[in-house]
Amino acid sequence: MTHGPTNIDSKDKCIYCYDSNVELTDEHIVPFSLGGVHIIQKASCLKCNKITTKFERKVARDLWGDARISYDAPSRRKKNRKDFISMGNSEIPASEYPAGLVFYEMNIPGILQGLAEDVDISKLWKMVVIHDDKRMETFLKENANKPTLSFRNVPQEFGQLLAKIGYGQVLTRLDLDDFNPICLPYITGEKSNVSYVVGGVLTDAQPIKETGYILNTKGIIISDNRLLLIAEVRLYSNTHAPGYQIIVGEILGSENITRVIKKMNSTEKVIN
Ligand SMILES: [Zn+2]
Repeated sequence: MTHGPTNIDSKDKCIYCYDSNVELTDEHIVPFSLGGVHIIQKASCLKCNKITTKFERKVARDLWGDARISYDAPSRRKKNRKDFISMGNSEIPASEYPAGLVFYEMNIPGILQGLAEDVDISKLWKMVVIHDDKRMETFLKENANKPTLSFRNVPQEFGQLLAKIGYGQVLTRLDLDDFNPICLPYITGEKSNVSYVVGGVLTDAQPIKETGYILNTKGIIISDNRLLLIAEVRLYSNTHAPGYQIIVGEILGSENITRVIKKMNSTEKVIN
């Protein structure tokens, strides 16, 4: 598992709509269904929770349904989980099925390419399927047919999920008034072109044994007066699943930049 504090104090308001006079629920930075252990306490109002739960469920079910069964991913409704996966006329034990995890291979975010906010490059995202190589080999020896993969194409929801994870990651170090949250309207669905703030990284992802996910924060200084906060996210990092970067926010003004960098470094020392 990745390092860092697993319980982050509440920001005393909803991190998505900033409402403070409402009931707040704990927020998993990486969804529970992906093995997420990092939680921001009392972070989301019920209205915003409804929005984030909706795209999280869509990705878990539509993109990774079979694979989550096959790799025994956590679920709040595990009791109802199937032990077998149907394949044409036969049924294969879930634990032997080399289910594929579908991911999007992305170009770097539009904002880093200097594109306008409304240039949608998600059409260029390629779907890739990640398998457990060993399982696949055994499976092909014993079965005449290749495993089938059923999934729905949900790039918008996948992008929203990544933006949400990246935003939560930055909030483990910083507070809401430390930066201007560029990614926020994409999480809430107010803006739809997620490819502007969500994209891939330039390096190929190497599997890291027994590590479920990796989260990192970095800053890029664009000019003396502007710094971009970037969250790097890898899910299923024990596989070749691609890595992503999310432009979470920006900090304007050299004094603010110095102050926030100091704050990030000081929290980092606590974390490591
Ligand atoms: Zn809210």
